[in-house]
Amino acid sequence: MNEQSRIVPNNLEAFWMPFSANRQFKQAPRMFVAAKDMHYTTADGRQVLDGTAGLWCVNAGHCRPKITEAIQSQAAELDYAPAFQMGHPKAFELASRLTTIAPQGLDHVFFTNSGSESVETALKIALAYHRAKGDGARFRLIGRERGYHGVNFGGISVGGIVGNRKMFGTLLTGVDHMRHTHDPERNGYSKGETEHGAELADDLLRIATLHDPSTIAAVIVEPVAGSTGVLPPPKGYLKRLREICDQHGILLIFDEVITGYGRMGTAFASDYFGVTPDIMITAKGLTNGVIPMGAVFVKDTIHDAFMTGPEHLIEFAHGYTYSGNPIAAAAGLATLETYQEEGLFERAKALEPVWADAIHSLKGTRHVIDIRTIGLIGAIELEPMKGEPTKRAFSAFVKAFEEGLLIRTTGDIIALSPPLMVSEEQIGEIVDTLKGILAGLE
Ligand code: PMP
Repeated sequence: MNEQSRIVPNNLEAFWMPFSANRQFKQAPRMFVAAKDMHYTTADGRQVLDGTAGLWCVNAGHCRPKITEAIQSQAAELDYAPAFQMGHPKAFELASRLTTIAPQGLDHVFFTNSGSESVETALKIALAYHRAKGDGARFRLIGRERGYHGVNFGGISVGGIVGNRKMFGTLLTGVDHMRHTHDPERNGYSKGETEHGAELADDLLRIATLHDPSTIAAVIVEPVAGSTGVLPPPKGYLKRLREICDQHGILLIFDEVITGYGRMGTAFASDYFGVTPDIMITAKGLTNGVIPMGAVFVKDTIHDAFMTGPEHLIEFAHGYTYSGNPIAAAAGLATLETYQEEGLFERAKALEPVWADAIHSLKGTRHVIDIRTIGLIGAIELEPMKGEPTKRAFSAFVKAFEEGLLIRTTGDIIALSPPLMVSEEQIGEIVDTLKGILAGLE
């Protein structure tokens, strides 16, 4: 195999790429062949600054030695152990380490292999929990418009992205949605939580009342909606959801797949907002994105319902061949150690105002109609091109890649979420590159 064919394979047809315009991509492929710390290396040998931590997951930066070594040595020592009825120490160690950084009371961890699987797991735990307590009438799940909860059937049912739902016909029944909280008219150019819109949490009460609150099992939200363009919650909104849930015996589920593991400058968004859910969904940053793994955290009361309930309920009929996989668990442990040793969560917290000011300095740049920042996340919303929505942002993405910056776009919104090791200088580089690109866009 010559060097060129190692870098760009000569058959691009076999791989059906996820969430990609395959035809377009294969005409002009963009390939990464290596990565280190804050940068990717492209197939033609260029360095690309990672403005998105891969897909919001590489929080510690790329190819970090501790994580690489942990994976290598675990693969050589114990590659796989059956996930059911058998254990191995690393999974137990990781679960217990996770509970030391989790919000108080979320002391039990169920392992999965992705964010989507964590979502399904959380929804099933919620439904099964009510049944375990003899309250099987609680079967309804409430999501939110513009929510993204992965791609499996439960997740797209509670999720609120039309494009991800409409190809697939019937979804879960018994699902309803609150309105999203995006309101650029009242909350334009926001830093942190937005000022207006806490009253939208009362949608939960309205929907619960409509269906009878005693039929509602759970409500699921991302504390900060990420994939639909970074929508920070209004001040007081999450607290109000918590109150309504408590009043009506509804479980509150936070999907922290993006916001978990330091992205907000705290271990989890729960800590940032001071609101603790009953179930917390995580993945991505758990293993620095290096090995697929997710973790669902639950409160004692939920865990106890299964552990101490009637004999026929003691086994939760759910799990994956790779739940708590030894290599993933080793990667998770090494990732947590890296976060801790390098103080990356604290670093993200210290950078939050620097980040906010830098991204907001793009206000007034051509095409920009709104900017939102929270934690180490940012969104720059562009005015859609007449008749061709999403085209302008996608052009920005392609141009940025050519100029050595990885960004992500969703609709007409540019989303940013660099690894937490990003330097102030690199933040400046992100902003300068974007400024140049936006000014030159059609
Ligand atoms: N939930 C949220 C909030 C996410 O952002 C994502 C992925 N971006 C998922 C779930 C799904 O995760 P995965 O792609 O690992 O299945």
